Amino acid sequence: MNFIERTIGRGKPSVAIVGSTHGDEIIGERVISRLRGLELKQGTVSFISAHPEALKKHVRFIDRDLNRSFPGKKNGVIEEQIAYKLKRHLRRFDVVIDLHTTRSNVGSLIIFTRDTPAMRELLAQVPIKKVALIGSHIFGGHEMVNHAPLGISLEYGPDTNGKSSERAARDIKALLVNLGMVAGRRRRMLKKVMYTVSDRYEVKGKVRPKAGLRNFRLIKKGQAIGSTEEGSLKARYSFYPLFLGKGRYEGTFALAAKTRQIVQL
Ligand SMILES: [Zn+2]
Repeated sequence: MNFIERTIGRGKPSVAIVGSTHGDEIIGERVISRLRGLELKQGTVSFISAHPEALKKHVRFIDRDLNRSFPGKKNGVIEEQIAYKLKRHLRRFDVVIDLHTTRSNVGSLIIFTRDTPAMRELLAQVPIKKVALIGSHIFGGHEMVNHAPLGISLEYGPDTNGKSSERAARDIKALLVNLGMVAGRRRRMLKKVMYTVSDRYEVKGKVRPKAGLRNFRLIKKGQAIGSTEEGSLKARYSFYPLFLGKGRYEGTFALAAKTRQIVQL
């Protein structure tokens, strides 16, 4: 099993746009088809469908989460094999963009795993205001972008009526304009709201989150956040929740950011 790639243009800079890392998220394929007619004035763009088999079956993964399987194994289960090949392939790109949607309403959000000057430069090229630093202690560093020389994940809310894929295609085009690869006026976004994820907020058992909680809105220590079979749940500490409730992390109430900063890049 392998990933599928279609490349346009030639030379540097080179950008990989990766979709279907999770096979149940079709945003990547939709964005790729929206960008089909893209004309490059310089550089290379590769559209990569990371997990065609999961995509075809409309499942998140076959054996294990591809985005928790890097660096992969040559003879492992299917996702480990894909990760193994992709890691080697992604090395040659200057920038890797990994596309996701989530059932949790996050609007649009950039996820990055290493805070370096090159990363900050890249963040400024993407017209998304909210950014979340998810260090390798959160998921063990097994995410795809953590294994690319310079990579970010873009997370969008549900792609109802194609709104998220339209937005994603626009964001990627703006990035390519900023990188000088597509004609247009360059506009960087230097001011960001940065959430530093410090923890996975775990809760035991099935939780019904309290209505009215919102992603990115501070939950204070002691605040009621939901209920389980054993009774009501109160926040153990103060945090900004990301990927609340309906999100993708089973057993995790939300990702918890203890700090929120306005950053001028
Ligand atoms: Zn995903």
